[in-house]
Amino acid sequence: MTKQRNLQIMERREAGETLASIAKDFGISLERVRQIAIVTRRNLGIGTVENPLRCKRDEDTFVFRCPWCGRLHVHGAKEGWRSSHCNHRKAPQEYYIAEKNND
Ligand SMILES: [Zn+2]
Repeated sequence: MTKQRNLQIMERREAGETLASIAKDFGISLERVRQIAIVTRRNLGIGTVENPLRCKRDEDTFVFRCPWCGRLHVHGAKEGWRSSHCNHRKAPQEYYIAEKNND
């Protein structure tokens, strides 16, 4: 089943397995593995449009305490999808950030 397969691909990718190794097992392209991992991650947890990483604004940057590695990561102060600054093996390759509301 596709959904099950995509979940497996995402989990193996996040566990640090190479694109090539996963692609070989599933008989799909490296680019397809990369896309499936990102989209599946988006559809699940935090760091998504529905559930963004909430950042504190500091002048023209957004800062957040990383839920994966526990460090602070800094991005330009604009809501949207960003390439991850996190090296933790469980961190996604991309996440969605937004300013923390004060209400
Ligand atoms: Zn991190």
